Amino acid sequence: MRILVVDDSRMARMVLCQQLEGLGHQTAFAASDEEALTRCRDESFDVALVDFRVGAMEGVEVCWHLRAAQGAKHLYLMLMIPGSITNQFFEVVENGADEFLRKPLDLVWLRARLLAASRVVEMQRQLERLATTDSLTGALNRGRFMTRAAGEVARAQRSGQPLSAIMLDIDHFKKINDTHGHATGDEAIRSVVRVCRTLVRGADILGRLGGEEFAILLPDTPQQGAALLAERLRVALAATEVRLPGGGAVTFTVSIGVSALRPGEKAREKAGEGAVSALLARADEALYRAKNGGRNRVVWDEATA
Ligand code: GH3
Ligand code: MG
Ligand code: MG
Repeated sequence: MRILVVDDSRMARMVLCQQLEGLGHQTAFAASDEEALTRCRDESFDVALVDFRVGAMEGVEVCWHLRAAQGAKHLYLMLMIPGSITNQFFEVVENGADEFLRKPLDLVWLRARLLAASRVVEMQRQLERLATTDSLTGALNRGRFMTRAAGEVARAQRSGQPLSAIMLDIDHFKKINDTHGHATGDEAIRSVVRVCRTLVRGADILGRLGGEEFAILLPDTPQQGAALLAERLRVALAATEVRLPGGGAVTFTVSIGVSALRPGEKAREKAGEGAVSALLARADEALYRAKNGGRNRVVWDEATA
């Protein structure tokens, strides 16, 4: 696991990090509450091991802050308590810690509690994956895609960098299902995600918005760049064969709409009236025109280009 050690004593940190690494974990440390919060914002940890006192602050308070912080909500928090303290156990857990460890630390006990923690962490990861990805393709589901889109729009507005969106829908998909069966339809849907993944960059965000409809967000990419990628996707997908169970294969085409964030577009999302909705609505309109124009084509939002 990735473990953050929060302790103001350099010696204690070093010893503990060494022990944890000996147990096969990756470690990082923070010497203060502030440093712990910053690290949790920039990196992701599974567990935080917090000393009972960190500088002038009580470890319980550090736990409380971490529990409330963005990026640290799911941390498994373990507070280290001196053996002399015997009456604050409830308070510690009530304030956000999941577990307390008696000091001096017993290595076997630490190992056992970390094993228990790893089960909770793994379960949380699985829940997160189930809640945010589409089980057929592994792409982001609609909910998570929208959350990520809101984040990317806000980021683009802060940085002034361009942000584009692609909306993609399989043409006459119903016919694939009707002619070759649902399983072949599913395989076609999977192949869209597979091909998209080979062509997009690591920073691009791919989501399955519905049945056979997908969206891609392209940070730092102007509309022309997105249209070029869309055209490459269209060509690659038209050449993609979906194997049939009884031998042979089918091909399909896609229609694609492209849009970009407009400068000065308001970030605030209220009842679907914000930059995220506007950006995706424009890609959707372009997709609609691609369908009406005869399908198997890329159309972009001309008012923005
Ligand atoms: P168009 O060219 O206008 O996009 O026509 P279309 O047939 O692709 O679109 P339509 O929206 O009429 O049909 C979509 C079909 O996709 C209907 C639905 O049964 C099917 N579908 C939705 N989700 C899945 C899925 O997960 N697997 C499979 N195999 N089919 C699905
Ligand atoms: Mg379709
Ligand atoms: Mg559709």
